[in-house]
Amino acid sequence: MNEIAIVGAGLAGLTAALRLTQEGYRVRIFERYPRPGGLARALEIGGEPLEAFYHHIFTTDTDYVAFAEEMGLGDEIEWLPSKMGIWADGRLWEFGTPASLLRFGPLRLIDKIRFGLSTLWLQRQRDPRPFESVTASDWIRRYQGERTWKTVWGPLLYQKFADEAENVAMVWLWRKVSLRGGSRSRSGMGERLGYMRGSFIRLVETLVAKIEAGGGTFHLTEEVRRVETDGGIFSIVTRRDTYRASKVLVAAPIPDHLAVAGQLLADDERTALSRLRATGAICTILELENSLTPFYWLNIADPEMPFGGLIEHTNYIPADRYGGRRLLYISNYLFTDHPLYSAPKSEIIETYLPHLKRVNPAFDASWILSSHHFRADYAQPVVTIGYREQIPPMRTSVRGLYLCSMAQIFPEDRGQNYAIAYGDKVAKVMLEDLDRGEG
Ligand SMILES: Cc1cc2nc3c(=O)[nH]c(=O)nc-3n(C[C@H](O)[C@H](O)[C@H](O)COP(=O)(O)OP(=O)(O)OC[C@H]3O[C@@H](n4cnc5c(N)ncnc54)[C@H](O)[C@@H]3O)c2cc1C
Repeated sequence: MNEIAIVGAGLAGLTAALRLTQEGYRVRIFERYPRPGGLARALEIGGEPLEAFYHHIFTTDTDYVAFAEEMGLGDEIEWLPSKMGIWADGRLWEFGTPASLLRFGPLRLIDKIRFGLSTLWLQRQRDPRPFESVTASDWIRRYQGERTWKTVWGPLLYQKFADEAENVAMVWLWRKVSLRGGSRSRSGMGERLGYMRGSFIRLVETLVAKIEAGGGTFHLTEEVRRVETDGGIFSIVTRRDTYRASKVLVAAPIPDHLAVAGQLLADDERTALSRLRATGAICTILELENSLTPFYWLNIADPEMPFGGLIEHTNYIPADRYGGRRLLYISNYLFTDHPLYSAPKSEIIETYLPHLKRVNPAFDASWILSSHHFRADYAQPVVTIGYREQIPPMRTSVRGLYLCSMAQIFPEDRGQNYAIAYGDKVAKVMLEDLDRGEG
């Protein structure tokens, strides 16, 4: 039997599925949602697809660009200027360029000099290891100062990692800063970010079509409940049916891996996996009559605000593509036990309204033409000291069972680029085993 089952039709699962079908294997892909794409899935606004969670790529996302070219979509990526800001000390500031740093009021000149010089130094470092044994909070306090931690980085890390913020390793921040630096200097014109005409879902759709053309089968709205094994053959149990496969790839978050295959794993492996933490995300999209801020990306460095970022998509992609509507994502990373995480959309918007008015006093609830709300239980892996040793292997302790998850991406942070790169990598690992006749 040469059938391979893949749990999860996110970009990692789809990339692996494509590579396996290209080598002549029959692949079945199971996805709990009605549509493929995972965190990169889309909805429609004014007849135009839009990501449920805001998405762009950086010029350093070379795996994404190469893959898009392979899929015939290379020319569809637009590199457009983006404007970044920060809400700090009760007002909006432009941020992200040397000139804007000089104008940034909440920091003193000495803080700005330390910030600027240490950022340049970080961007030039190539070896991740020195940053793996120190927390971002200790490093920033030491090299940029307490004020910069309290004003800029602390609020941002708390927003993204909640009560884990002080435990995040510097390697996570270093990689972000160094990649962002690369993204700026290569374009030579400030920061340009990449977006796919018609949204990133086009790559997902192209992948699905190619996998189907290669003989792959999709089982959408078919959540895998359990994976069992008997004599080297796997059973994939869903609510509808049970399927057989010689190999199984779980291309999904760690908690889903544990839920479907945890009982098969070695005890120490299961324990190590269950220690890995990730914040969830709630993302509210407001379709607005007017623009809220002049920025595409607005970081919120204010613990009083109930959200961490305002991403005004139509300050980056022209609003006329969406029937003239202004599209605002309100981003909020939370652990899933936070009361706001599972609160209904209306309650969340009610909570946000007065804070949107602080950002722009002219804002009024009547500006909201429509709204959408999405949750992701597993959105941002928490990278702590010594993370390299905790990265789960792609070959699990069960022969024939593989894992490809955001938690494996290191030292870079999660992103479509790495979902593709790691999907490719896991397929290579599986093909190596198949070539050796294992399975
Ligand atoms: C708020 C937010 C903003 C982001 N912004 C960007 C950005 O600007 N640029 C960028 O490049 N990336 C961004 N990302 C990250 C990017 O979306 C992800 O890194 C990438 O899509 C992950 O792909 P994946 O296949 O690894 O995982 P996922 O997309 O999580 O896919 C896993 C799939 O497995 C399915 N699944 C899980 N368990 C089961 C089961 N038991 N049975 C069946 N199906 C199952 C899930 O439904 C899901 O579809 C963002 C993510 C978030 C949350």
